[in-house]
Amino acid sequence: MHTTAVLNTSLSMVGSSIMPTCRMCTQNYPVNQFVKGNGPRYLVCARCAVEHDMMAPGETPILYSDEVARARLSLFSRRYRPWVLMILGWTLFLTMGRSIPPWSTLFLIVLIILTLTTPVRHLMTRTKFNSELSRLSP
Ligand SMILES: [Zn+2]
Repeated sequence: MHTTAVLNTSLSMVGSSIMPTCRMCTQNYPVNQFVKGNGPRYLVCARCAVEHDMMAPGETPILYSDEVARARLSLFSRRYRPWVLMILGWTLFLTMGRSIPPWSTLFLIVLIILTLTTPVRHLMTRTKFNSELSRLSP
């Protein structure tokens, strides 16, 4: 069960600031994925702590399951897809120019609509997004 790649992707998309390196597996994880403590437990991620039997009794690691990690990733990609489309669209329009009338004009109109609606939609769906995100957070 290795969720590292998915986990790192979904978290780097929110712009997680501090990502320390685990001493044992040399992977980067957000701070909340590390076990607390000094000595042998210093800078060891929860995954390695479990593998090396270092978890204190009753201590449960905060790990995302494969399913939750996938759901989080799809939640983020759904939220940011219109922005990506908008940027791609403008790039395409600016590189192609108005070479193919009337399609260039139509394309420009669609782009303008997308540019105007995306921020509004982003703000309007914020509450729903946050509630879905907190449902998918351990
Ligand atoms: Zn580790």
